[in-house]
Amino acid sequence: LASAALTYDQTNVFARILRKEIPAEILHDDEHCVAFRDVSPQAPLHLLVIPKRPIARLADATPADQAVLGHLLLTAGELARQQGYEEGGYRVVINNGAGAGQTVFHLHVHVLAGRDFAWPPG
Ligand code: AMP
Repeated sequence: LASAALTYDQTNVFARILRKEIPAEILHDDEHCVAFRDVSPQAPLHLLVIPKRPIARLADATPADQAVLGHLLLTAGELARQQGYEEGGYRVVINNGAGAGQTVFHLHVHVLAGRDFAWPPG
């Protein structure tokens, strides 16, 4: 791979949530991932689905993460359905890198629903 992997910082806020050092409103917890409410929700439903593995960015995922990446998306869809937003639609977002708005360097899938969404995204 051409791009250098970003060193994973074990003190990032999602690593601290995984270690239960700081609280989160956790809706889902399984072998591979955890999902919790975003502390600054940008829609009536705003969840974050994160892998338990220390992956800083989507760009740092490898073929060894293939099953985990699929699991994150399946879980995102399942949670949106459970929360009652399958019919109305929902948006799934991954910001990769600071230039795309990533502020926490532990891979996370945003799940947003409950309002209209513009396209293209801002
Ligand atoms: P991003 O900008 O894609 O890196 O998204 C990071 C998200 O994490 C933002 O939507 C923040 O509101 C959210 N966030 C930051 N700290 C916490 C926290 N302690 N608990 C839940 N969500 C958080």
